[in-house]
Amino acid sequence: MFKKIIHAVFLYDNKRKAVTLLLVFAFIGCIKNQDRLFSQEAICVESTNAVKKVAFLTFDDGPSNMTEEILDTLKEEEVNASFFMIGELITEDKEPLLRRMVEEGNLIGIHTYTHRVKEIYASADAYIEDARKTADRIYEVTGTEPTYYRFPWGSSNCFISPFCDEIIVCMENDGYTYFDWNVSAEDSVGKPSQQKIIANIRKDYKKYKEPVILLHDSSINKNTAKALRYIIDELKAEGYEFATIDKRSKPCQFK
Ligand SMILES: [Zn+2]
Repeated sequence: MFKKIIHAVFLYDNKRKAVTLLLVFAFIGCIKNQDRLFSQEAICVESTNAVKKVAFLTFDDGPSNMTEEILDTLKEEEVNASFFMIGELITEDKEPLLRRMVEEGNLIGIHTYTHRVKEIYASADAYIEDARKTADRIYEVTGTEPTYYRFPWGSSNCFISPFCDEIIVCMENDGYTYFDWNVSAEDSVGKPSQQKIIANIRKDYKKYKEPVILLHDSSINKNTAKALRYIIDELKAEGYEFATIDKRSKPCQFK
């Protein structure tokens, strides 16, 4: 009898352990893949009315100490890009960079104020408050109201799924449109080389007349800034023009 009880407890414990382990693995998987989640699901329906080949370069997570180099390259290549900014990184010394972005025809959108997952994705209200704070900061510096935003980790990720629709509706009521991507440089995971970044983009952009390319503008993205010229030159050679996201025939959205 005693043996039977021990056996039952052991089995019960094992089941509990198995369930706990499964939950832990699922959680780790979610965290581990958070940067890649969207690039794996990066499918926004190709617009049917696009006639011209136009590429949309988008940079998340700026401003940073790479922003100036990125802007210099864009200017030399005579192309424009869209920047989704982190509000708390718009320090006084970075303000001239934002004004330069706008003066040179680039677009500034909202990314997040803090980029801290637990805070911004705690609730729909928390997300919206964070986004508004970022919009206010951008307006304060540039005098331009942002109208586009990009969800950190994209519009359907592990963190926002319970209230994603609520956020989208509320933000839409405030006049904001979210923008995902269909091509990823995958430059926020590890430290890919210039060649790897170029290869990541190359494997997908030709599928689209209007590729929306996800890149990052942060201090760890030196190779992104250096690869930019080659990316632009290759796309130009393939017949693509460049524009800011507001010129796309329709927003690139996963859902
Ligand atoms: Zn980000």
